[in-house]
Amino acid sequence: MAVFDYAPAPESRSIVDIQPTYGLFINGEFTDPRSGECRKTVNPANEEVLAEVAEADASDVDVAVRAARQAYETVWGPMRGSDRAKYLFRIARIIQERSRELAVLESIDNGKPIKESRDVDLPLVAAHFFYYAGWADKLAYAGFGPDPKPLGVAGQVIPWNFPLLMLAWKIAPALAAGNTVVLKPAETTPLTALHFAQICQQADLPPGVVNIVTGGGATGAALVAHPDVDKVAFTGSTEVGRQIARTVAGTRKRLTLELGGKAANIVFDDAPLDQAVEGIVNGIFFNQGHVCCAGSRLLVQESIADELLERLKRRMATLRVGDPLDKNTDIGAINSAAQLEKIRALSAAGEAEGAQRWSPPCELPARGFWFAPTLFTGVSQTHRIAREEIFGPVLSVLTFRTPAEAVEKANNTPYGLSAGIWTEKGSRILAIADQLRAGVVWANTFNKFDPTSPFGGYKESGYGREGGRHGLEAYLAR
Ligand code: NDP
Repeated sequence: MAVFDYAPAPESRSIVDIQPTYGLFINGEFTDPRSGECRKTVNPANEEVLAEVAEADASDVDVAVRAARQAYETVWGPMRGSDRAKYLFRIARIIQERSRELAVLESIDNGKPIKESRDVDLPLVAAHFFYYAGWADKLAYAGFGPDPKPLGVAGQVIPWNFPLLMLAWKIAPALAAGNTVVLKPAETTPLTALHFAQICQQADLPPGVVNIVTGGGATGAALVAHPDVDKVAFTGSTEVGRQIARTVAGTRKRLTLELGGKAANIVFDDAPLDQAVEGIVNGIFFNQGHVCCAGSRLLVQESIADELLERLKRRMATLRVGDPLDKNTDIGAINSAAQLEKIRALSAAGEAEGAQRWSPPCELPARGFWFAPTLFTGVSQTHRIAREEIFGPVLSVLTFRTPAEAVEKANNTPYGLSAGIWTEKGSRILAIADQLRAGVVWANTFNKFDPTSPFGGYKESGYGREGGRHGLEAYLAR
Protein backbone atom coordinates (compact mmCIF):
# COMPACT_ATOMS: atom_id res chain seq x y z
CA MET A 1 0.00 0.00 0.00
CA ALA A 2 1.34 3.43 -0.90
CA VAL A 3 2.20 5.69 2.02
CA PHE A 4 1.85 9.39 1.45
CA ASP A 5 3.99 11.93 3.24
CA TYR A 6 2.39 14.98 4.75
CA ALA A 7 3.36 18.22 3.07
CA PRO A 8 4.31 20.99 5.52
CA ALA A 9 1.30 23.01 6.67
CA PRO A 10 2.76 25.81 8.77
CA GLU A 11 0.52 28.25 10.60
CA SER A 12 1.49 31.84 9.84
CA ARG A 13 3.57 33.46 12.53
CA SER A 14 2.81 36.97 11.30
CA ILE A 15 -0.51 37.04 13.17
CA VAL A 16 1.33 37.72 16.42
CA ASP A 17 3.29 40.85 17.14
CA ILE A 18 6.07 39.97 19.58
CA GLN A 19 7.67 43.07 21.06
CA PRO A 20 11.44 43.10 21.56
CA THR A 21 11.02 43.92 25.28
CA TYR A 22 8.26 43.57 27.86
CA GLY A 23 7.95 45.35 31.20
CA LEU A 24 6.01 44.33 34.28
CA PHE A 25 2.23 44.76 34.24
CA ILE A 26 1.39 46.65 37.41
CA ASN A 27 -1.63 48.81 38.17
CA GLY A 28 -2.92 48.54 34.62
CA GLU A 29 0.29 49.63 32.91
CA PHE A 30 3.50 48.15 31.64
CA THR A 31 6.36 49.51 33.70
CA ASP A 32 10.12 49.07 33.79
CA PRO A 33 11.32 46.91 36.66
CA ARG A 34 12.99 48.65 39.58
CA SER A 35 15.50 45.84 39.53
CA GLY A 36 16.66 47.04 36.09
CA GLU A 37 17.08 43.37 35.18
CA CYS A 38 15.62 41.37 32.34
CA ARG A 39 15.99 37.91 30.85
CA LYS A 40 15.55 36.45 27.40
CA THR A 41 12.84 34.04 26.42
CA VAL A 42 13.62 31.69 23.52
CA ASN A 43 11.71 29.61 21.01
CA PRO A 44 12.54 26.05 22.13
CA ALA A 45 12.03 24.74 18.60
CA ASN A 46 15.00 26.68 17.20
CA GLU A 47 16.61 28.54 20.16
CA GLU A 48 15.84 31.92 18.56
CA VAL A 49 15.55 34.74 21.11
CA LEU A 50 11.95 35.96 21.08
CA ALA A 51 12.03 38.88 23.52
CA GLU A 52 13.61 40.32 26.62
CA VAL A 53 11.33 40.21 29.61
CA ALA A 54 11.62 42.17 32.87
CA GLU A 55 12.87 40.36 35.95
CA ALA A 56 10.93 41.52 39.01
CA ASP A 57 12.72 41.65 42.34
CA ALA A 58 11.19 41.88 45.81
CA SER A 59 10.64 45.65 45.50
CA ASP A 60 8.76 45.18 42.21
CA VAL A 61 6.66 42.46 43.80
CA ASP A 62 5.91 44.82 46.65
CA VAL A 63 4.65 47.52 44.25
CA ALA A 64 2.45 44.94 42.50
CA VAL A 65 0.98 43.65 45.76
CA ARG A 66 0.22 47.22 46.88
CA ALA A 67 -1.54 47.90 43.58
CA ALA A 68 -3.57 44.72 44.02
CA ARG A 69 -4.48 45.66 47.62
CA GLN A 70 -5.58 49.15 46.58
CA ALA A 71 -7.72 47.74 43.75
CA TYR A 72 -9.21 45.16 46.09
CA GLU A 73 -10.22 47.70 48.70
CA THR A 74 -11.44 50.48 46.48
CA VAL A 75 -12.87 48.84 43.36
CA TRP A 76 -12.97 45.09 42.92
CA GLY A 77 -13.86 43.94 46.43
CA PRO A 78 -16.87 46.29 46.79
CA MET A 79 -18.06 45.75 43.20
CA ARG A 80 -21.30 43.82 42.69
CA GLY A 81 -20.83 40.29 41.41
CA SER A 82 -22.94 41.00 38.34
CA ASP A 83 -20.55 43.81 37.39
CA ARG A 84 -17.46 41.67 37.95
CA ALA A 85 -19.11 39.12 35.67
CA LYS A 86 -19.33 41.66 32.86
CA TYR A 87 -15.56 42.14 32.91
CA LEU A 88 -14.95 38.39 32.97
CA PHE A 89 -17.33 37.80 30.07
CA ARG A 90 -15.60 40.58 28.18
CA ILE A 91 -12.17 39.02 28.79
CA ALA A 92 -13.50 35.61 27.68
CA ARG A 93 -14.85 37.07 24.45
CA ILE A 94 -11.61 38.92 23.66
CA ILE A 95 -9.66 35.69 24.25
CA GLN A 96 -11.90 33.98 21.72
CA GLU A 97 -11.45 36.81 19.24
CA ARG A 98 -7.66 36.73 19.66
CA SER A 99 -7.37 32.96 20.04
CA ARG A 100 -5.42 32.36 16.83
CA GLU A 101 -2.82 34.95 17.81
CA LEU A 102 -2.56 33.56 21.34
CA ALA A 103 -2.29 29.95 20.10
CA VAL A 104 0.57 30.86 17.77
CA LEU A 105 2.31 32.79 20.54
CA GLU A 106 1.90 29.87 22.97
CA SER A 107 3.36 27.41 20.48
CA ILE A 108 6.31 29.70 19.73
CA ASP A 109 7.18 30.34 23.39
CA ASN A 110 6.38 26.87 24.76
CA GLY A 111 7.09 24.47 21.88
CA LYS A 112 3.71 22.73 21.93
CA PRO A 113 2.07 21.77 18.61
CA ILE A 114 -0.26 24.36 17.17
CA LYS A 115 -3.07 21.81 16.90
CA GLU A 116 -2.98 21.48 20.69
CA SER A 117 -2.65 25.17 21.53
CA ARG A 118 -5.37 25.96 18.98
CA ASP A 119 -7.79 23.10 19.72
CA VAL A 120 -7.20 22.38 23.41
CA ASP A 121 -5.46 25.19 25.32
CA LEU A 122 -7.21 28.25 23.88
CA PRO A 123 -10.78 26.89 23.87
CA LEU A 124 -10.29 25.81 27.49
CA VAL A 125 -8.83 29.19 28.46
CA ALA A 126 -11.89 31.00 27.10
CA ALA A 127 -14.22 28.40 28.63
CA HIS A 128 -12.70 28.97 32.09
CA PHE A 129 -13.38 32.69 31.92
CA PHE A 130 -16.91 32.13 30.63
CA TYR A 131 -17.59 29.53 33.31
CA TYR A 132 -16.36 31.59 36.25
CA ALA A 133 -18.00 34.73 34.87
CA GLY A 134 -21.23 32.83 35.37
CA TRP A 135 -20.46 32.25 39.05
CA ALA A 136 -19.55 35.86 39.92
CA ASP A 137 -23.11 36.88 40.85
CA LYS A 138 -24.15 33.47 42.26
CA LEU A 139 -21.57 32.94 44.98
CA ALA A 140 -24.27 32.82 47.63
CA TYR A 141 -25.57 29.64 45.97
CA ALA A 142 -22.21 27.90 45.60
CA GLY A 143 -22.57 26.01 48.86
CA PHE A 144 -20.06 28.02 50.86
CA GLY A 145 -22.49 29.88 53.09
CA PRO A 146 -25.12 32.53 52.37
CA ASP A 147 -22.71 35.45 51.98
CA PRO A 148 -19.16 34.25 51.17
CA LYS A 149 -16.51 36.95 51.01
CA PRO A 150 -13.33 37.22 48.95
CA LEU A 151 -10.00 36.69 50.69
CA GLY A 152 -8.19 39.77 49.36
CA VAL A 153 -4.97 39.62 47.34
CA ALA A 154 -4.02 36.32 45.69
CA GLY A 155 -0.38 35.57 44.86
CA GLN A 156 -0.26 33.00 42.08
CA VAL A 157 2.73 31.14 40.66
CA ILE A 158 2.35 29.00 37.54
CA PRO A 159 4.52 26.63 35.46
CA TRP A 160 5.53 26.49 31.81
CA ASN A 161 3.63 23.47 30.53
CA PHE A 162 0.24 25.18 29.94
CA PRO A 163 1.15 28.84 30.40
CA LEU A 164 -2.12 30.51 29.44
CA LEU A 165 -4.38 27.70 30.64
CA MET A 166 -2.77 27.69 34.09
CA LEU A 167 -3.21 31.47 34.16
CA ALA A 168 -6.92 30.99 33.42
CA TRP A 169 -7.27 28.29 36.09
CA LYS A 170 -5.80 30.74 38.60
CA ILE A 171 -7.13 34.14 37.58
CA ALA A 172 -10.72 33.35 36.54
CA PRO A 173 -11.96 31.91 39.89
CA ALA A 174 -9.96 34.46 41.90
CA LEU A 175 -11.56 37.43 40.10
CA ALA A 176 -15.02 35.88 40.06
CA ALA A 177 -14.87 35.56 43.84
CA GLY A 178 -13.83 39.22 44.21
CA ASN A 179 -10.10 38.87 44.85
CA THR A 180 -7.36 40.76 43.07
CA VAL A 181 -4.28 39.03 41.71
CA VAL A 182 -0.53 39.18 41.36
CA LEU A 183 0.58 36.38 39.05
CA LYS A 184 4.05 35.15 38.21
CA PRO A 185 4.38 33.12 35.01
CA ALA A 186 7.29 30.72 34.47
CA GLU A 187 10.53 32.25 33.28
CA THR A 188 10.62 30.20 30.05
CA THR A 189 7.03 31.00 28.99
CA PRO A 190 6.06 34.54 30.00
CA LEU A 191 4.72 35.83 26.67
CA THR A 192 1.07 34.76 26.66
CA ALA A 193 0.63 36.09 30.20
CA LEU A 194 1.94 39.45 29.00
CA HIS A 195 -0.45 39.43 26.06
CA PHE A 196 -3.20 38.53 28.52
CA ALA A 197 -2.20 41.74 30.35
CA GLN A 198 -2.90 43.61 27.11
CA ILE A 199 -6.30 41.92 27.02
CA CYS A 200 -7.00 43.21 30.54
CA GLN A 201 -6.28 46.71 29.23
CA GLN A 202 -8.47 46.10 26.18
CA ALA A 203 -11.29 44.96 28.49
CA ASP A 204 -10.93 48.13 30.61
CA LEU A 205 -10.36 46.02 33.69
CA PRO A 206 -9.80 48.45 36.56
CA PRO A 207 -6.06 49.02 37.19
CA GLY A 208 -4.50 46.76 39.83
CA VAL A 209 -7.08 43.97 39.62
CA VAL A 210 -4.62 41.83 37.64
CA ASN A 211 -0.87 42.34 37.94
CA ILE A 212 1.72 40.22 36.12
CA VAL A 213 5.26 40.07 37.53
CA THR A 214 7.72 38.15 35.38
CA GLY A 215 10.92 36.60 36.68
CA GLY A 216 12.46 33.40 37.96
CA GLY A 217 12.17 31.36 41.15
CA ALA A 218 13.31 34.28 43.34
CA THR A 219 10.42 36.40 42.06
CA GLY A 220 7.98 33.61 42.90
CA ALA A 221 9.53 33.20 46.35
CA ALA A 222 9.21 36.97 47.01
CA LEU A 223 5.55 36.88 46.01
CA VAL A 224 4.73 33.89 48.18
CA ALA A 225 6.52 35.43 51.17
CA HIS A 226 4.97 38.90 50.81
CA PRO A 227 3.16 39.69 54.08
CA ASP A 228 0.21 41.38 52.38
CA VAL A 229 -0.74 38.38 50.25
CA ASP A 230 -3.84 36.62 51.63
CA LYS A 231 -3.88 33.56 49.45
CA VAL A 232 -1.18 31.62 47.62
CA ALA A 233 -1.95 29.34 44.68
CA PHE A 234 0.86 27.33 43.13
CA THR A 235 1.20 24.81 40.33
CA GLY A 236 4.60 23.23 39.73
CA SER A 237 7.04 20.73 41.13
CA THR A 238 6.56 18.95 44.44
CA GLU A 239 9.94 20.22 45.62
CA VAL A 240 9.03 23.90 45.18
CA GLY A 241 5.55 23.15 46.56
CA ARG A 242 7.19 21.93 49.76
CA GLN A 243 9.27 25.10 50.04
CA ILE A 244 6.16 27.21 49.58
CA ALA A 245 4.25 25.23 52.21
CA ARG A 246 7.10 25.90 54.64
CA THR A 247 7.06 29.64 53.83
CA VAL A 248 3.32 29.90 54.32
CA ALA A 249 3.16 27.71 57.45
CA GLY A 250 2.23 29.68 60.54
CA THR A 251 0.87 32.66 58.60
CA ARG A 252 -2.79 33.54 57.95
CA LYS A 253 -2.35 32.85 54.24
CA ARG A 254 -4.51 30.25 52.57
CA LEU A 255 -2.70 27.82 50.27
CA THR A 256 -3.52 25.50 47.39
CA LEU A 257 -0.85 23.34 45.76
CA GLU A 258 -1.15 21.50 42.45
CA LEU A 259 2.01 19.44 42.14
CA GLY A 260 3.39 16.52 40.20
CA GLY A 261 2.01 13.10 39.27
CA LYS A 262 2.94 9.63 38.05
CA ALA A 263 -0.40 8.41 36.80
CA ALA A 264 -1.21 4.78 36.09
CA ASN A 265 -3.10 4.10 32.88
CA ILE A 266 -4.56 0.60 33.46
CA VAL A 267 -5.56 -1.57 30.50
CA PHE A 268 -7.58 -4.72 31.25
CA ASP A 269 -7.78 -7.70 28.91
CA ASP A 270 -11.34 -6.87 27.85
CA ALA A 271 -10.48 -3.31 26.77
CA PRO A 272 -11.09 -2.16 23.19
CA LEU A 273 -7.42 -2.24 22.21
CA ASP A 274 -7.35 0.30 19.40
CA GLN A 275 -9.17 2.85 21.53
CA ALA A 276 -6.85 2.08 24.42
CA VAL A 277 -3.83 2.67 22.18
CA GLU A 278 -5.20 6.11 21.26
CA GLY A 279 -5.77 6.84 24.94
CA ILE A 280 -2.27 5.73 25.87
CA VAL A 281 -0.75 7.91 23.14
CA ASN A 282 -2.86 10.87 24.20
CA GLY A 283 -2.08 10.17 27.86
CA ILE A 284 1.69 10.37 27.51
CA PHE A 285 2.54 12.18 24.27
CA PHE A 286 0.05 15.05 24.53
CA ASN A 287 2.04 18.26 25.15
CA GLN A 288 5.33 16.26 24.86
CA GLY A 289 4.38 14.58 28.14
CA HIS A 290 4.79 17.89 29.98
CA VAL A 291 1.55 17.20 31.81
CA CYS A 292 1.24 16.75 35.57
CA CYS A 293 -1.59 14.23 35.07
CA ALA A 294 0.13 12.39 32.15
CA GLY A 295 -0.46 8.65 31.99
CA SER A 296 3.25 7.96 32.36
CA ARG A 297 2.91 4.43 33.81
CA LEU A 298 1.11 2.00 31.55
CA LEU A 299 -0.20 -0.98 33.52
CA VAL A 300 -1.30 -3.65 31.06
CA GLN A 301 -2.81 -7.04 31.85
CA GLU A 302 -0.20 -9.68 31.07
CA SER A 303 -2.38 -11.75 28.73
CA ILE A 304 -2.73 -8.89 26.23
CA ALA A 305 0.61 -7.17 26.78
CA ASP A 306 2.31 -8.45 23.61
CA GLU A 307 -0.57 -7.57 21.33
CA LEU A 308 -1.11 -4.16 22.90
CA LEU A 309 2.58 -3.26 22.70
CA GLU A 310 2.74 -4.28 19.07
CA ARG A 311 -0.22 -2.00 18.24
CA LEU A 312 1.21 0.79 20.39
CA LYS A 313 4.57 0.68 18.63
CA ARG A 314 2.86 0.72 15.25
CA ARG A 315 0.90 3.80 16.31
CA MET A 316 3.96 5.53 17.79
CA ALA A 317 5.74 5.11 14.46
CA THR A 318 3.10 7.37 12.89
CA LEU A 319 3.61 10.27 15.32
CA ARG A 320 5.08 13.31 13.63
CA VAL A 321 7.71 15.16 15.66
CA GLY A 322 8.79 18.60 14.52
CA ASP A 323 7.89 22.23 13.89
CA PRO A 324 5.30 23.23 16.53
CA LEU A 325 3.68 25.63 14.06
CA ASP A 326 3.05 22.88 11.49
CA LYS A 327 -0.60 21.84 11.73
CA ASN A 328 0.38 18.20 11.13
CA THR A 329 2.78 18.03 14.06
CA ASP A 330 1.85 15.66 16.90
CA ILE A 331 4.86 16.20 19.16
CA GLY A 332 6.60 19.55 19.42
CA ALA A 333 9.75 20.76 21.15
CA ILE A 334 10.79 20.16 24.75
CA ASN A 335 10.32 23.45 26.59
CA SER A 336 13.89 24.10 27.71
CA ALA A 337 17.44 22.77 27.65
CA ALA A 338 17.15 22.06 31.38
CA GLN A 339 14.00 19.97 30.94
CA LEU A 340 15.57 18.08 28.02
CA GLU A 341 18.54 17.27 30.22
CA LYS A 342 16.26 15.93 32.94
CA ILE A 343 14.40 13.69 30.47
CA ARG A 344 17.68 12.40 29.06
CA ALA A 345 19.09 11.67 32.51
CA LEU A 346 16.01 9.75 33.67
CA SER A 347 15.85 7.79 30.41
CA ALA A 348 19.52 6.87 30.80
CA ALA A 349 18.75 5.72 34.34
CA GLY A 350 15.97 3.50 32.96
CA GLU A 351 18.43 1.76 30.65
CA ALA A 352 21.10 1.51 33.34
CA GLU A 353 18.60 -0.14 35.70
CA GLY A 354 17.77 -2.79 33.10
CA ALA A 355 14.58 -1.66 31.33
CA GLN A 356 14.40 -2.00 27.53
CA ARG A 357 14.18 1.26 25.62
CA TRP A 358 12.42 1.68 22.27
CA SER A 359 11.65 4.66 20.02
CA PRO A 360 10.32 4.64 16.46
CA PRO A 361 12.67 5.79 13.71
CA CYS A 362 12.40 9.53 14.04
CA GLU A 363 14.43 12.36 12.57
CA LEU A 364 14.82 15.23 15.02
CA PRO A 365 15.56 18.83 13.96
CA ALA A 366 19.19 19.87 14.35
CA ARG A 367 18.50 23.01 16.40
CA GLY A 368 16.24 23.35 19.40
CA PHE A 369 15.29 20.92 22.17
CA TRP A 370 13.89 17.60 20.99
CA PHE A 371 13.21 14.13 22.35
CA ALA A 372 11.76 11.22 20.40
CA PRO A 373 8.66 9.45 21.78
CA THR A 374 10.04 6.66 23.94
CA LEU A 375 8.77 3.44 25.44
CA PHE A 376 10.35 1.40 28.22
CA THR A 377 9.37 -2.25 28.73
CA GLY A 378 10.64 -4.63 31.38
CA VAL A 379 10.09 -1.90 33.97
CA SER A 380 9.82 -2.90 37.61
CA GLN A 381 8.33 -0.87 40.41
CA THR A 382 11.69 -0.01 41.91
CA HIS A 383 13.03 1.61 38.74
CA ARG A 384 13.37 5.39 38.87
CA ILE A 385 11.38 5.66 35.61
CA ALA A 386 8.46 3.98 37.40
CA ARG A 387 8.66 6.24 40.45
CA GLU A 388 9.85 9.69 39.39
CA GLU A 389 8.03 12.22 37.27
CA ILE A 390 9.91 12.44 33.95
CA PHE A 391 7.71 15.19 32.51
CA GLY A 392 8.55 14.22 28.94
CA PRO A 393 7.42 11.88 26.12
CA VAL A 394 8.54 8.72 27.93
CA LEU A 395 6.22 5.84 28.82
CA SER A 396 7.09 3.13 31.35
CA VAL A 397 5.24 -0.16 30.82
CA LEU A 398 4.51 -2.59 33.66
CA THR A 399 2.26 -5.65 33.62
CA PHE A 400 -0.22 -7.14 36.08
CA ARG A 401 -2.26 -10.37 36.33
CA THR A 402 -5.23 -9.57 38.59
CA PRO A 403 -7.29 -6.44 39.27
CA ALA A 404 -5.98 -6.41 42.84
CA GLU A 405 -2.40 -6.34 41.58
CA ALA A 406 -3.29 -3.50 39.18
CA VAL A 407 -4.72 -1.43 42.03
CA GLU A 408 -1.75 -2.12 44.27
CA LYS A 409 0.74 -1.11 41.59
CA ALA A 410 -1.28 1.94 40.56
CA ASN A 411 -1.36 3.21 44.14
CA ASN A 412 2.30 2.42 44.75
CA THR A 413 3.48 5.99 44.21
CA PRO A 414 3.96 9.04 46.39
CA TYR A 415 1.71 10.93 43.97
CA GLY A 416 -2.06 10.78 43.47
CA LEU A 417 -3.20 13.16 40.77
CA SER A 418 -4.85 11.06 38.07
CA ALA A 419 -5.39 7.57 36.66
CA GLY A 420 -7.00 5.84 33.69
CA ILE A 421 -9.00 2.61 33.38
CA TRP A 422 -9.63 0.77 30.12
CA THR A 423 -12.23 -2.02 30.20
CA GLU A 424 -15.58 -2.72 28.62
CA LYS A 425 -17.21 -3.49 32.00
CA GLY A 426 -18.88 -0.56 33.73
CA SER A 427 -18.94 -2.45 37.02
CA ARG A 428 -15.17 -2.91 36.86
CA ILE A 429 -14.66 0.80 36.15
CA LEU A 430 -16.62 1.71 39.28
CA ALA A 431 -14.95 -0.94 41.45
CA ILE A 432 -11.41 0.00 40.41
CA ALA A 433 -11.97 3.77 40.44
CA ASP A 434 -13.20 3.43 44.01
CA GLN A 435 -9.88 1.92 45.08
CA LEU A 436 -7.53 4.29 43.25
CA ARG A 437 -5.98 7.11 45.29
CA ALA A 438 -6.12 9.69 42.52
CA GLY A 439 -7.94 13.01 42.27
CA VAL A 440 -9.15 12.35 38.71
CA VAL A 441 -9.91 8.92 37.26
CA TRP A 442 -10.68 8.73 33.55
CA ALA A 443 -12.50 5.69 32.17
CA ASN A 444 -11.95 4.67 28.54
CA THR A 445 -10.50 8.10 27.84
CA PHE A 446 -7.63 10.23 29.13
CA ASN A 447 -6.55 13.85 29.55
CA LYS A 448 -10.03 15.30 29.21
CA PHE A 449 -10.55 18.66 30.91
CA ASP A 450 -13.56 20.82 31.51
CA PRO A 451 -13.94 24.02 33.53
CA THR A 452 -16.94 22.59 35.38
CA SER A 453 -14.95 19.65 36.71
CA PRO A 454 -12.72 19.89 39.81
CA PHE A 455 -9.07 18.88 39.44
CA GLY A 456 -6.46 18.21 42.12
CA GLY A 457 -4.48 15.59 43.93
CA TYR A 458 -3.89 13.33 46.90
CA LYS A 459 -0.64 12.78 48.78
CA GLU A 460 2.39 14.53 47.23
CA SER A 461 0.33 15.75 44.29
CA GLY A 462 -0.86 18.58 46.49
CA TYR A 463 -4.06 19.81 48.06
CA GLY A 464 -7.06 21.93 47.17
CA ARG A 465 -9.13 21.72 44.01
CA GLU A 466 -9.16 23.90 40.92
CA GLY A 467 -12.05 24.05 38.47
CA GLY A 468 -15.77 23.74 38.95
CA ARG A 469 -17.72 24.95 41.95
CA HIS A 470 -15.01 23.43 44.15
CA GLY A 471 -12.43 25.79 42.64
CA LEU A 472 -14.25 28.79 44.13
CA GLU A 473 -13.75 27.54 47.67
CA ALA A 474 -10.03 28.31 47.60
CA TYR A 475 -10.83 32.00 46.98
CA LEU A 476 -13.66 32.53 49.46
CA ALA A 477 -13.85 33.14 53.20
CA ARG A 478 -17.01 31.90 54.84
P1 NDP B 1 9.07 24.64 39.36
O1 NDP B 1 8.21 24.08 40.42
O2 NDP B 1 10.45 25.04 39.72
O3 NDP B 1 8.37 25.92 38.70
C1 NDP B 1 7.02 26.27 38.82
C2 NDP B 1 6.88 27.77 39.06
O4 NDP B 1 7.40 28.10 40.35
C3 NDP B 1 7.68 28.61 38.09
O5 NDP B 1 6.98 29.81 37.85
C4 NDP B 1 8.95 28.87 38.86
O6 NDP B 1 9.63 29.98 38.41
C5 NDP B 1 8.40 29.09 40.26
N1 NDP B 1 9.36 28.89 41.33
C6 NDP B 1 10.56 28.25 41.31
N2 NDP B 1 11.12 28.28 42.52
C7 NDP B 1 10.27 28.94 43.34
C8 NDP B 1 10.28 29.27 44.73
N3 NDP B 1 11.29 28.91 45.53
N4 NDP B 1 9.23 29.96 45.25
C9 NDP B 1 8.18 30.30 44.46
N5 NDP B 1 8.13 30.01 43.15
C10 NDP B 1 9.15 29.33 42.59
O7 NDP B 1 9.12 23.66 38.16
P2 NDP B 1 10.26 23.59 37.05
O8 NDP B 1 9.88 24.47 35.96
O9 NDP B 1 11.61 23.80 37.62
O10 NDP B 1 10.13 22.08 36.63
C11 NDP B 1 10.77 21.07 37.42
C12 NDP B 1 9.95 19.83 37.43
O11 NDP B 1 8.72 20.09 38.07
C13 NDP B 1 9.54 19.32 36.08
O12 NDP B 1 10.50 18.51 35.52
C14 NDP B 1 8.30 18.57 36.41
O13 NDP B 1 8.62 17.28 36.84
C15 NDP B 1 7.70 19.32 37.53
N6 NDP B 1 6.61 20.22 37.11
C16 NDP B 1 5.35 19.87 37.39
C17 NDP B 1 4.31 20.67 36.97
C18 NDP B 1 2.92 20.34 37.25
O14 NDP B 1 2.03 20.85 36.58
N7 NDP B 1 2.63 19.55 38.24
C19 NDP B 1 4.54 21.87 36.19
C20 NDP B 1 5.92 22.18 35.98
C21 NDP B 1 6.90 21.36 36.42
P3 NDP B 1 10.65 29.84 37.18
O15 NDP B 1 10.10 28.84 36.24
O16 NDP B 1 10.62 31.16 36.60
O17 NDP B 1 11.93 29.44 37.77
